[in-house]
Amino acid sequence: MVREQIAARGIRNRRILWAIDRTPREWFIPDEWSAEAYADEPLPLIGGQTISQPYVVALMTSLLAPGRRDRVLDVGTGSGYQTAILARLAAEVYTVERIPELLVTAEARFARLSLTNIQTRIADGALGWADAAPFDGILVAAAAPRPPAPLLGQLAPGGRLVIPIGGRAEQELTVFRRGAGGALESRTAGGVRFVPLLSPLAFDPETRP
Ligand code: SAH
Repeated sequence: MVREQIAARGIRNRRILWAIDRTPREWFIPDEWSAEAYADEPLPLIGGQTISQPYVVALMTSLLAPGRRDRVLDVGTGSGYQTAILARLAAEVYTVERIPELLVTAEARFARLSLTNIQTRIADGALGWADAAPFDGILVAAAAPRPPAPLLGQLAPGGRLVIPIGGRAEQELTVFRRGAGGALESRTAGGVRFVPLLSPLAFDPETRP
C-alpha cells in the first residue's frame, strides 16, 4: 500500500511513509471489511462515515507537514487512523469527533498502539479546541463551504489548516497558512470528496438544504 498507492504517487517524505507503515489500517476498520484494509479506496465506518483512501490520508498529512515539536488539532476522528498517523509525527495531537460511538472505538485503538500523546473530545470540531490553542497544524477530515473562523483563529504563526472546501458532494483540498506576521494565504491541492462537517459553522445539520 505504501509503495504502490502512496510513494508511487509522489508522497516521498520518509517520516510520513514510516508513520503510515507503522500504523496497521486493518485495526481501524470494521471486521467485515478487513479483506479490503489495504485497497486503494475509502471504507465505511458506522453512522454513514468513512475512513479516507490511504493516498488522501498521506496527501493531507504531507500538506500539514507536522514537525516533531508541533501541536496538532485533528477534526473528525472517525476511525482514528489519521489521528494515529499524526501522533507518530507530532508532539501532541488533539482530536475532536461528534459521534461518541466512533470516539470510544478510536480510543481503544490508540491504547492498543500505545499512543499516549492524543487528547480526545466529543464536540463540534468547527469550534476548534480553544483551551489547547494555538496549533501548528489543523487537519479537518470533513468538508466545509468555507474555513470555520475559530479554526483560522487558533492557528499559530506559521501554522497550517488543511481542509476540503466546497459543496456537500465535491471539494478542493485547501491549505491555509498563517504567516509569521499574521497574514493568511491559501492554495488548493486537488479535488476530493469528503463527508460534510456538520456544524452551524459549516453544513448545518438543522437546516439541511
Ligand atoms: N479522519 C477519519 C475520517 C473521518 S470521516 C479517519 O481517519 O477515519 C469524518 C468524520 O468527521 C466523521 O467521523 C464525522 O462524524 C466527523 N464530523 C463531522 N462533523 C463534525 C463536527 N462538526 N465535529 C467533529 N467531528 C465531525
